Amino acid sequence: MIIQLESKLPSSATSDVLQAVKNIGYKPTTVNTQFGNYVVCVGKKDFDIRSLGSLAGVRDIHYVSDDYQLVSRKWKVERTAIDLGDGVKIGNGAFQMMAGPCSIESEEQVLSIVQHLKRCGVRIMRGGVFKPRSSPYSFRGMGLDGLKMFSAICREHGIKIITEVMEVAQIEPMYEYIDVYQVGARNSQNFNLLDELGRVDKPVMIKRGISGTIEELLYSAEYVFSAGNERLMICERGIRTYESASRNTFDINAIPILRDKTHLPVIVDPSHAIGLRDFVAPVALAGVAAGADGIIIEIHETPEEAASDGAQTLNYEESAQLFTRIRALLDVQETW
Ligand code: PEP
Ligand code: MN
Repeated sequence: MIIQLESKLPSSATSDVLQAVKNIGYKPTTVNTQFGNYVVCVGKKDFDIRSLGSLAGVRDIHYVSDDYQLVSRKWKVERTAIDLGDGVKIGNGAFQMMAGPCSIESEEQVLSIVQHLKRCGVRIMRGGVFKPRSSPYSFRGMGLDGLKMFSAICREHGIKIITEVMEVAQIEPMYEYIDVYQVGARNSQNFNLLDELGRVDKPVMIKRGISGTIEELLYSAEYVFSAGNERLMICERGIRTYESASRNTFDINAIPILRDKTHLPVIVDPSHAIGLRDFVAPVALAGVAAGADGIIIEIHETPEEAASDGAQTLNYEESAQLFTRIRALLDVQETW
């Protein structure tokens, strides 16, 4: 159960609500985000709703039958839209494409990709500076100095930035240089990281864990929301299965299921999902057709020379064609 409180409530009124909830037998947790004040109550109890609804400061009460609460679609009629400023919105009908290299490599590379994105009308660039790599000997990213360079170029050209945060200590130094924190698949259940991202007023995109279930992904999102940040989206990036013909298995089922279960925007990452450059486009289009609110793909001027994930990275011609096809598909979907 979620109790929505009025904003600017005196603490005595909040205490009265908490006490009333405890008296019924619920365990309450207060949650204050950028947009609202909530009391999340767990433990199912029968009671007369009027006993809470008439308390001072209570705006609304919602029964949510899911175990996750704040991210559930059961209480929020309108889907969440994330506003990155300058007209860049994601969710609730606003579709966004995000593209860029797996790793930020150099100033020339960032400038070249930024110009390509501008030509294609793409407003958000991805690119890792802190790279989780299976082998410690692989390229592990340019770090904070690379981010500063990445950010300066993007800011100059009006392009927004999404980049991966790997640990709590990186959150604060990254803050001013980015627009969205990406939580990678390997950190999808790093609960300390999720908790801390809940205390920051900056959008977060959480990727599904390599072997993570849909429910686990929703709980990860619940961590961030319940710690205070509701500017949140989730990303299907493929899961590990027994299939070895592709890097991962794109779980297309997850798109309509997630959109049914949560009000948060659902993003697809076809690059990591299939891992094969020749098949990124069909998987991307399938994700869009299934109802995704956005897409994130890996691109590079010369994928063969990319420092990481070149085998799943599209070149400029391939990505430009994919962006055009996605737009055509979105236009058709509007008429469905
Ligand atoms: C990435 O986006 O480059 C990345 C490492 O993705 P994932 O966490 O999904 O493996
Ligand atoms: Mn990658």
